[in-house]
Amino acid sequence: MASKKEVEKNNCTIISERAAQMQPCPIGSKGFCCKNCLMGPCRVCAPEQKGVCGASRALVVARNVLRFSTGGASAHCGHAYHILDYLNLKYPVDYVKKKAPDYLYKLWDDLGILPKFSYEHFKDISEAIHLSTMGVDSDWEDIIKWCIKIGIIDGYYGMYLATELEDKKFGKPKIKKGELNLGVLDESKVNIAIHGHEPMPVSYTHLTLPTKRIV
Ligand code: SF4
Repeated sequence: MASKKEVEKNNCTIISERAAQMQPCPIGSKGFCCKNCLMGPCRVCAPEQKGVCGASRALVVARNVLRFSTGGASAHCGHAYHILDYLNLKYPVDYVKKKAPDYLYKLWDDLGILPKFSYEHFKDISEAIHLSTMGVDSDWEDIIKWCIKIGIIDGYYGMYLATELEDKKFGKPKIKKGELNLGVLDESKVNIAIHGHEPMPVSYTHLTLPTKRIV
């Protein structure tokens, strides 16, 4: 993390300062605000109130949960896809079956919320956004079921798979002390900003530049 001195020198703020100054929207923080179409935004504050399209409050909340869960799942699955692509590998078939406890796999299978084919989870990510669009799925319980399905996809086809592949390729991460963030920027040097969440570009940089000169 950047030191207080560096933050002040660069005239910027850090996350904890911005969070302390932020007054969260009392409607949005409960999930009662829907912005899924241009007839809104609709604020469904009372339990019996409906959005302009007729969406109940439960539906609005469930759709909001599904949409932000799907955003997270798409990021993690994208991450796994990038490393598969980097290693020239295909998605493993039945990955959830191989990794999940049997009793959970059976439960999820009974509920019909398992992707079973390679790449099917990407179709599910698309479908989750589709059915939470205005006028598609009006059953909030079904939407909540989809939230669980997207959670399985996120966990197994995203985080689990990406972590397993990275550990195999680069070894398990070790905790090290180092300089990072704004604190390492130096106007007298070439500064290359690397997204460290995916180790492939970092490993490539280490292979192609003299290590001693990398901070
Ligand atoms: S989808 Fe329905 S509840 Fe959401 S903004 Fe549109 S009209 Fe309002």
